[in-house]
Amino acid sequence: ATPRHVTARIAPIGSRLVLVLVEDRTRERRIEAVRRDFVANVSHELKTPVGAIRVLADAVSEAADDPEAVRRFSHRMLTESDRLTALVLQIIELSRLQGDEPLESPEVVDVDQIIASAADTTSVDAARKGISIRVGGTNGLKVFGAEEQVLAAVTNLVSNAVAYSDVGLSVTIAARASDDNVEISVIDQGIGIAPAEIDRIFERFYRVDPARHRSTGGTGLGLSIVKHVAATHGGDVKVWSSPGRGSTFTLILPQHIAAPTADEADHEPL
Ligand code: ADP
Repeated sequence: ATPRHVTARIAPIGSRLVLVLVEDRTRERRIEAVRRDFVANVSHELKTPVGAIRVLADAVSEAADDPEAVRRFSHRMLTESDRLTALVLQIIELSRLQGDEPLESPEVVDVDQIIASAADTTSVDAARKGISIRVGGTNGLKVFGAEEQVLAAVTNLVSNAVAYSDVGLSVTIAARASDDNVEISVIDQGIGIAPAEIDRIFERFYRVDPARHRSTGGTGLGLSIVKHVAATHGGDVKVWSSPGRGSTFTLILPQHIAAPTADEADHEPL
């Protein structure tokens, strides 16, 4: 069992009465530890692209009389600075979500729009690899949550499906109702994930294959963001995967079921 951090204070409040104050700081301590760990990881991860940009800037200034080398180094500087930007944006996103506090004011979010928007954002990367993104029947479903967060989560899943699929394959996004929830699935036919890795892929900065990761330009934070979005919504995220065959990630969020309109209610069978 996890040790608990509990303190007790005893305050006499009369000749026969004492007041016992018990304070459980387990949760605060845990959040504090996660935060410390996160900051250490972040500093480490930021050093890599910043270091690369520094080295490339030196190389550019030394290659002034070789236009081809200048062009090559500058291009790599752009790639590294894009990576740095993506990393910083995801770090900000993740630090907002880390407390896993339930949403303060959830709103009705249209699943069709989320899926269309996620497909649109990833369409350039998909087109570059000749990957087609198919949108399955989504049935006008709505979830109860934070639009920005749901969009970030689904976009991360679709962008991973594209990144970890080989040229010419397809990615399918579909949604269906299941009890009180909506299940949004992103299905790919890509490289898949070994069973031993499945539990670890949701950890911050964890990548199955850092070498391949470098070429896909990922940050190692995407799935961690997806997991936290599921938590703040009281939902879940499930994964099925088979190496060489593909993966299916399913984000489960609370469904918003509209109350029947007065007109519909009139026609309800008795
Ligand atoms: P990254 O930015 O590296 O994609 P994520 O947190 O999104 O970071 O994913 C963590 C790791 O999980 C990835 O580096 C990759 O190894 C693996 N992974 C995620 N999605 C998929 C997928 N659809 N197919 C295969 N592997 C995946």
